Amino acid sequence: MAKNMDEFTLQDAASFIENGIDVIAVVDSDADTYKTLVKKGMFTDFIDDAGSYKELTQKLWFHLKNEQDKEVTEDYQVFIPRIGKFKGKYSRRLKLFKDGTPHSVQMTITPYVDDYYLLILYELDSSDYMQEFLTNEKVTTIQNTYLFSMYIDLFKDSTSSISISEVSDDTMDVEIKYSQWRMMIVNMIWPDDKDTFLERTDPEYLKTHLEPGSTSSFDCLMKNLEGIYIWVKLIFSRAETNNKEDYRYVFMVQDIHENSVQLMSTLKKYEELASKDTLTDIFNHGRIETEIHNAIEIVGRTDRKVSMMMFDIDFFKSVNDQYGHAVGDMTLKHFAYMIKEYFAKKNAVIGRWGGEEFTAVCYDTGVEEARQFAEEIRSKVSEEEFNVAGNVTVSIGVTQIINGDEFEVAFDRMDKALYQAKESGRNCIRIL
Ligand code: GH3
Ligand code: MG
Ligand code: MG
Repeated sequence: MAKNMDEFTLQDAASFIENGIDVIAVVDSDADTYKTLVKKGMFTDFIDDAGSYKELTQKLWFHLKNEQDKEVTEDYQVFIPRIGKFKGKYSRRLKLFKDGTPHSVQMTITPYVDDYYLLILYELDSSDYMQEFLTNEKVTTIQNTYLFSMYIDLFKDSTSSISISEVSDDTMDVEIKYSQWRMMIVNMIWPDDKDTFLERTDPEYLKTHLEPGSTSSFDCLMKNLEGIYIWVKLIFSRAETNNKEDYRYVFMVQDIHENSVQLMSTLKKYEELASKDTLTDIFNHGRIETEIHNAIEIVGRTDRKVSMMMFDIDFFKSVNDQYGHAVGDMTLKHFAYMIKEYFAKKNAVIGRWGGEEFTAVCYDTGVEEARQFAEEIRSKVSEEEFNVAGNVTVSIGVTQIINGDEFEVAFDRMDKALYQAKESGRNCIRIL
């Protein structure tokens, strides 16, 4: 140590305070005024040389609060002269935010001379304080994401509550048997998930499937306190032990709703993308194949009628040859748009089978109605003026799916009908 204890003077200490303290201000709370003696550090922007003390405390708070905090915390309120006069000394360590970064600040108000007070502010920047923030932050996160947790002892068939932190006083008193608890909770689980819940929470299952020290979890929909089903993760973690008869577990219910909902909407978006044809933006080959399988299954199981048809543009190769591939593409898009519009209000699913071939699966449509659809489309197409390509015609093969059809059999019929239309001179429909 460089300095000897005897060498210290009050002057040293005073100058240390002057340099080390960020803000020192004299406050007159009766007159609601302050005068700044020292200001530096993170407070420079907020503190004037003099002004209204009340405004200062409010300005400080609202500038340095976390965005999420809507109210002035009680800890801070002691610095706001609400009754016109302070009584006694207050000193608090506060977490204040500047540009989103937390700062630990010691804020003190202390009687000075006469009725004056001193307001003293300084930032504590030791890593210990940061650690304290992080811990508090973590506890808050745990409290927000874990709906509840408890200890389970399968040997005693007992449950007991866990207080997640010393910070929270609201511990839940669960003093019921595990077996009872399980039968209560199952009523909060989404009907389709109940079997899984009962299987995975079964004492014998937990005993045999979870080694000491290991964790297992599964996701399900569970009713929250407001009676709304939300996605949760149920987690069982078995205590680390050498005793084979020790069946103690920690059980937690984690709220994963927002993540799950987001994930599912992303998956849905990708699923949609994966089923679309990129050129024409209608369903692609794979998706239509699935649709035909679905249709066959429905016809086999119910007495609904389903028909399907294959469109093949006539002499399409010559469109490409005459005007180029880009015009060919434009013509395909135009054609896809026409059939999409035509079927928009009908119970039908359309897609591009490949090249210049398109398919429609028409639900609740018998063969006669399907013939009308096909004929109407054929006629519309033949009258349409396609950009650049001009006049274009289409041949259509139609068939109704019959009970007992296999995919290849039904598809073959439709394909043969199309072949016949081509053989008959094109720009016509055939039904098989
Ligand atoms: P048909 O009346 O017998 O059906 O004659 P077609 O010329 O339409 O039949 P063909 O099967 O001989 O030729 C189909 C043409 O479709 C050949 C191919 O270049 C073209 N084609 C396939 N896919 C695309 C595509 O994505 N864009 C463009 N521009 N042309 C395509
Ligand atoms: Mg073809
Ligand atoms: Mg063709």
